[in-house]
Amino acid sequence: MDKIEHIGIAVKDLEASNALFEKLLGVPHYKIEEVASEGVRTSFFKSGPNKIELLEATKPDSPIAKYLEKKGEGIHHIAFAVADIVSEIQRLKGEGFLVLNETPKKGADNKLVAFLHPKGTNGVLVELCQEIKES
Ligand code: ZN
Repeated sequence: MDKIEHIGIAVKDLEASNALFEKLLGVPHYKIEEVASEGVRTSFFKSGPNKIELLEATKPDSPIAKYLEKKGEGIHHIAFAVADIVSEIQRLKGEGFLVLNETPKKGADNKLVAFLHPKGTNGVLVELCQEIKES
């Protein structure tokens, strides 16, 4: 795995949290993107070399809605950049990690993503993400 690509934060109200994080970081979000298949709307901030993703549920049965119901707002996942997500999934499976989606799916911000079940990672939902290269 390479660097931490971003940290994902679950929020109830994306507009309100965009305003809050703009004040906190001193920069506005640079994009909003809906991932309809996941029932989520995301916004992204850059703070120096770091990236923050805010996630708001767009439907009541989406994973983010369920997370907010159970745990409330807060850090939802840590995403690591990987060069080759398919081989990284195989490596982690070999190490005994529970991969939630063994076939990478299209996530926000032009990424292929896969998640590890937090049960096997000390309660931390881990996202792997690989940049989709335009060819
Ligand atoms: Zn993410």
